[in-house]
Amino acid sequence: MKCKDLLIKGKAKSVFATDTKGKLIVEFRDDITAFDGGKKDLLKNKGTCNAEVSAFFFEYLEHNGVKTHFFTMLDSHHMVVRKLEMIPLEVIVRNIAAGSIVRNYPFVEGTPLDPPLIVIDYKDDVRHDPMLNDEIIFALKLATPAELKTIKKVALEINRLLSALLAAQGITLVDFKIEFGRQGKTIYLGDEISMDSMRLWDKKTGESLDKDVYRFEKGDVMAIYNKVAQRITKPGKETVTKD
Ligand code: C5P
Repeated sequence: MKCKDLLIKGKAKSVFATDTKGKLIVEFRDDITAFDGGKKDLLKNKGTCNAEVSAFFFEYLEHNGVKTHFFTMLDSHHMVVRKLEMIPLEVIVRNIAAGSIVRNYPFVEGTPLDPPLIVIDYKDDVRHDPMLNDEIIFALKLATPAELKTIKKVALEINRLLSALLAAQGITLVDFKIEFGRQGKTIYLGDEISMDSMRLWDKKTGESLDKDVYRFEKGDVMAIYNKVAQRITKPGKETVTKD
């Protein structure tokens, strides 16, 4: 498959057209950003690390009946995906109160949210991704009621599947953000699921294992990303490092 024109350059990924109908290539770059792009850096190997984890999760989810855009990896940081009409919603599932929900509402950090909370933001950097409600989603014609129902149901199913997988590796899935797209009437999971888009806490130590390490300068980001990628994709084979 040949990589053709650059279609979209996002903050950490680029999307390319291909010579194959209905397929695109997503490049996971080494860029990392936080706070609406206010903090940015290049971290060697970060694209590969996130691509590996995303591919692993997409395969696991597909295997468990979730429709995703994933086809295959071309190399360590180029993913072949289904071409979708992306829906500009950031669908966030929260199992434990942390991050913006604690900053913006009177939740206490670390409080379990049972049942999990689904929060949907409008994907719009200029407007700083404002939170939506169902009425605004329908008024803006971002999704139909049937599509939104599917999106919420699939988001909760993904939460159930990922929480169980991560719990088995001693990791708590605090929250995560996913994005969906449509092809005809079918809704697919798109974008990525990686340490950039999840909040993960070590079950034993409570240590952050995700982009909060970068946001709040809690340690060596790539050392933690590499370690958690290994823990997720090759459980039981983690390299033992001296602390
Ligand atoms: O910042 P906030 O607490 O709202 O983030 C919730 C979850 O969604 C976190 O795991 C965060 O990494 C993810 N997120 C994201 N992209 C955004 C906003 C949030 O991946 N634009």
